[in-house]
Amino acid sequence: MEDIDLGFLAEGSLNQSDLLDVECSRIGGPPLLLRSKDVTSLKEKCGSNMDLLLQMYAPKNNDGSFHRIIYVFASNEDKALEEGWTNGIRVFRGQASESEFENLDLTLDDNAKSKLCDPREIEVDSEPSNEASEIEPKVLENLTVETENPTNEPYTKPTGDTSFLKFQKRISRAPDQILRYYHSDSSEPLWCNKDGIPTNVPNCSCGAKRILETQILSTLLTELNIDHSSENALDWGVLAIYTCSESCDLANKGIAEEVCWLQKFSEQGIEAPE
Ligand SMILES: [Zn+2]
Repeated sequence: MEDIDLGFLAEGSLNQSDLLDVECSRIGGPPLLLRSKDVTSLKEKCGSNMDLLLQMYAPKNNDGSFHRIIYVFASNEDKALEEGWTNGIRVFRGQASESEFENLDLTLDDNAKSKLCDPREIEVDSEPSNEASEIEPKVLENLTVETENPTNEPYTKPTGDTSFLKFQKRISRAPDQILRYYHSDSSEPLWCNKDGIPTNVPNCSCGAKRILETQILSTLLTELNIDHSSENALDWGVLAIYTCSESCDLANKGIAEEVCWLQKFSEQGIEAPE
């Protein structure tokens, strides 16, 4: 079975020493950058239109990525995000080898403190293997079923978006998860919709292919200080984050940009037969 880790939000806010701990994965707060010059790069790339959604410590087992951080920024503009490779979410990768790390000028970018949420730690645990036994009633509660039967034909069982049902069922193993972290080169996200899936993933600027690293779930939205009732509010079903399969050294020279695919929930959820 595929080995997947889940991220959960810890209780309580983080103090200054937690914020300065490179290994502390967190949502919100000021980004902790590996090099002071990253502050300028980040400003150039994001301006004041993006806020830190989360930063995740994700070291790989090669020398250059001994320390490795993935940053995810979200747009704070009053504009709904489109499905697809979105510019409303920007992803960056920063890395350092063990020896580089000793000479880094780690910088907590207080001027870029996230307005989306207060900093909280992301705790990681492996995904439980057993599905919750009683999930059916909860699934059905969230679905809308077309009950009209204008043709008066005998009732047939509605056909659902099986991706959505599969999604709900899998998430129900640990409903509080905010992210899913993948370890295999061939992993696919747990899509919430049969539509809106990328057919190919752009390569890294180094030429290597990008692979799925993590998926951020809509459960995180409830933690954000945004007006959820606004039609332009930040919203997604799945954010699939793809990063360089080689964890190349572009991220050792400065922050390297990666990509995010945004998938929305189906507006129907489940459909009645034609
Ligand atoms: Zn690369």
